[in-house]
Amino acid sequence: MIDVMDKFPFTRVLQFNFEDEPGVYVHAVKGSDVVELAARIHANTVVIFARDAWGRAFYDSKVSEKHPKLGSRDFLKEVVEAAKKKGIRVVAMVGHTTNPKLYEKHPEWAQRGIDGSPIAMDTDPKLAKGERMRWPLMCLNSPFLKHVAEEIREVLAYGVDGVFLDSFRYMPDLERACFCEYCKARYTKEKGRELPSKEDWESAEYREAFEWRYGVNVNALRELYKVVKSTKPSAILAYNNHPAGWKGRANTIVEKAKEQLDVVFAECAEADYNPPGFIAEMVKLTRAVSGGKHVWASRNSFHAALTTTTTTPVAIRQGLREAFIAGGHPFYLVFSTTFCQNPDVEQAAAEVFKELEKLEEYMEDAEPVKYVGVAYSNRSRDWGGKRRPDHITDSFRGFYYALTWAGVPVTFISDSELDVGAFKDYKAIVLANVQSMSEAASKHIEGFVEEGGGLVATYTVSLLDERGVERKKPALSKLLGIEYDGLLKYPWSYLRLTKKHAVTDGFAGGQLLLWGDFDREFMERRVPEELAWHVRVMAADGEVLGRVVEPIGEYGNEYENGRSPPPAGSEREAPAILAKEPGGRIAYFTGQLGRLYWRLGLPGHERLILNSVRWVAGESPARVTGPGLLQFEAYERDGQLIIYLLNLTYSRRIVTRPNSALSRIWHSTADCLHPPHEVVSLNDVSIMISGEYEVLRAYSPLTGKRYHLEDRDSSHVIKLDTLGEFEAVVIDVK
Ligand SMILES: [Zn+2]
Repeated sequence: MIDVMDKFPFTRVLQFNFEDEPGVYVHAVKGSDVVELAARIHANTVVIFARDAWGRAFYDSKVSEKHPKLGSRDFLKEVVEAAKKKGIRVVAMVGHTTNPKLYEKHPEWAQRGIDGSPIAMDTDPKLAKGERMRWPLMCLNSPFLKHVAEEIREVLAYGVDGVFLDSFRYMPDLERACFCEYCKARYTKEKGRELPSKEDWESAEYREAFEWRYGVNVNALRELYKVVKSTKPSAILAYNNHPAGWKGRANTIVEKAKEQLDVVFAECAEADYNPPGFIAEMVKLTRAVSGGKHVWASRNSFHAALTTTTTTPVAIRQGLREAFIAGGHPFYLVFSTTFCQNPDVEQAAAEVFKELEKLEEYMEDAEPVKYVGVAYSNRSRDWGGKRRPDHITDSFRGFYYALTWAGVPVTFISDSELDVGAFKDYKAIVLANVQSMSEAASKHIEGFVEEGGGLVATYTVSLLDERGVERKKPALSKLLGIEYDGLLKYPWSYLRLTKKHAVTDGFAGGQLLLWGDFDREFMERRVPEELAWHVRVMAADGEVLGRVVEPIGEYGNEYENGRSPPPAGSEREAPAILAKEPGGRIAYFTGQLGRLYWRLGLPGHERLILNSVRWVAGESPARVTGPGLLQFEAYERDGQLIIYLLNLTYSRRIVTRPNSALSRIWHSTADCLHPPHEVVSLNDVSIMISGEYEVLRAYSPLTGKRYHLEDRDSSHVIKLDTLGEFEAVVIDVK
């Protein structure tokens, strides 16, 4: 815990690594150069490799060989000494599970697949073919863990302020799971049987082994946390969950190990391939699964994987701001090559970190304004998604992005929060295909709705218990007013919107809405699994607002060789949308609305999401209206509302992709990836604050500008004539 300190001091982070195997620039960069760079960009924390993924130390270590290019130099010492003079904190990265040096000495400590061959992190096609394994992973059940403990003691003795486990990987999925002698022996000892050797999600034994592997991670983190705290109580332990990577599984590790972590690092390496606002999304997701731990979130200085160059300044500025406004701490990654070859590596980060020096004080004791909580259910991703966890996560993300882009405050809630009912301050919660749910959570949700809370739920919500065992009927059946009768399995389907209601507002009476999409790989199947399916329900009570419509066939004749949907056929009795008001309001969709929106972004699906949330939650206590694409974040603390408006309306940010995994059939490369070049300024953006707040004054802590507050209907309105890249507005309230 970091409560030994008054205030969390690791808020603006520069990560600086010698990233290349030969270490071309090791001779050119001294520890003081890194610290001076940190000082110039207004970072207060430096994160560096103390031991890299090749197994080489950047200090005089007794347990690891030193980087050969360092000679007699001790880089860690150089950094720590220079940082002390400037009051900058140092966090050392150790413990990467990839360690080829150690593997040479102790091949028996490596993670081994079911066939006994070592498991490596390599994805390079040449290396993955086995010509030369670069990055074998060491096993957390082997004496490797003691080796990491020793690394931690060594670097803490240098006076660093914390330890960061960056690439610390031990996966539960069978194709990446370890079957080394240590793991086999430990499992047999603890469980009294052998590790299951077949992937069988329906078997309790398989799921138990899957959970056991999570436990291996948690135990390792617990051990290392003890080492950190017993060696230097004020030092922090940080862990990289890489929330969008590793099938999302490390989010479960964080959820289970949160008491052993001080900081979680939400690595956002894939931000350039993701929607605008991705870094903010990863911060909120990580805050939720970690129970509100401090979160670092990275914006790389380079575009995509092009580590030797820099990306556009606006990509850097907006990315670092995203991390901050979402409630995290920005983490700027600069590699030695980026630094040595690009003089423009520091300007954009410096501008933002300087700005955040002014804003950080407003985040002390500030809590996000609670309006809608979208469940990000780790268990549903595992037990519902099985081999395809992405199909489940799509549902959470679809709702999250539709609401974010609608300019209302939205955060994630975790399974642990559902279990203990820690969501009752929200106006509404969204359970988008949250298949796996504990009995306790379902009781809390019932109580929440009884007391007036809103609920939007979709598809097979609560059909599985928290261990993945299928129930006879969803735990929330009674609350939702449904009688469950299995699944309607179609390659495509439609909804007919049969009834006028707030949820169907904006649709013509009887309008059809397409429910499905073609498979983007288009190799093994025409359509993605389950995308157009519905839960077959009978409405026990509540209103039916729409019904399921069958397709007339497997696929349409045009367009693009079997990718298009067939026309609508006959309407089924089966409800597609249900609404009821047993206290609070409930909207239930029998299909996967969030997943469809994530894939397609079509206005019909978006309208259903926004209509249903608005109907169950009421109007947001704070929101933004106006043109463009905005990331809106709202916080409150005693006597103040703090509003952030981040303008993500980019003039050029291009991501193209082919309609097939066969990408070489076009006249030109089907994939292209351009970073944003500039933000388009917006006019007539308005912040709307509920009339329930008694507002006194509004101003920008960045520029000192005072904003006029106008009362309109039951809201206070602050109109911004122009919004550039970013604005912060503080509203003093009584
Ligand atoms: Zn093992």
